[in-house]
Amino acid sequence: MKIIIMTLFPEMIEQSISHSIIGRAIKKQLLEITAINIRDFANNKHKKVDDYPFGGGVGMLIMAPPVKDCYNHILSSSLTANPPVIYMTPQGKVWNQAMAQEFSKEKEIILLCGHYEGIDQRVIDEIVTHEVSIGDYILTGGELAALVVIDSISRLVEGVLGKQESFQDESFSHGLLEYPQYTKPRVYNGVEVPEILLSGHHKNIAEYNRQKAIEVTRKKRPELLKSYL
Ligand code: SAM
Repeated sequence: MKIIIMTLFPEMIEQSISHSIIGRAIKKQLLEITAINIRDFANNKHKKVDDYPFGGGVGMLIMAPPVKDCYNHILSSSLTANPPVIYMTPQGKVWNQAMAQEFSKEKEIILLCGHYEGIDQRVIDEIVTHEVSIGDYILTGGELAALVVIDSISRLVEGVLGKQESFQDESFSHGLLEYPQYTKPRVYNGVEVPEILLSGHHKNIAEYNRQKAIEVTRKKRPELLKSYL
């Protein structure tokens, strides 16, 4: 899968994707992640990409032309005709696991990161196909939000997670939070691992874990249970 990020701070993205599972998947060429600097498409000698909003108001807005030129540059080497363009914005649909699953099926996606007060609305209207928020709070820029989206999509791409890191039973994958898990030592601080997990009886263990998942979900996120039961 190919993910291209339009940003004023490509180094923020590059530093974060080179580690652990995502870094390994890039080396194995399961993922191609490229951050492109919108500033490289500024059409003035000072490489200025922002200006004051018309009508007043505090802060600066990223101008439309460098964003559009950056987008055209990306399309010129695109794998698909019209890849989805996701604008990271607090005004977007709040990101969740189902959305990560949907986008992980795409061959290629483009993420657009705003900064300062955001981006001129005209280029948003022109190129953006989806608006995504990572929660009801304001970040200084879209880069951290893009990294959340990149990470949660990437680990769903086939081959990215090894057998040891399967997402099958994880929270949200079946509409429930994950059941509690334990590792060595068998007794910690006087607390023993539940006996059934040591029994080797896979069917009983699966049923126990399912009941525990329901219990945890009821306690921590009761609203999720309504669509599960
Ligand atoms: N003036 C904008 C507003 O009120 O909707 C907020 C601009 S914010 C300071 C700058 C940039 O950070 C946005 O263009 C967006 O790309 C990103 N951003 C901020 N909060 C975000 C969130 N919750 N989710 C996704 N992106 C966010």
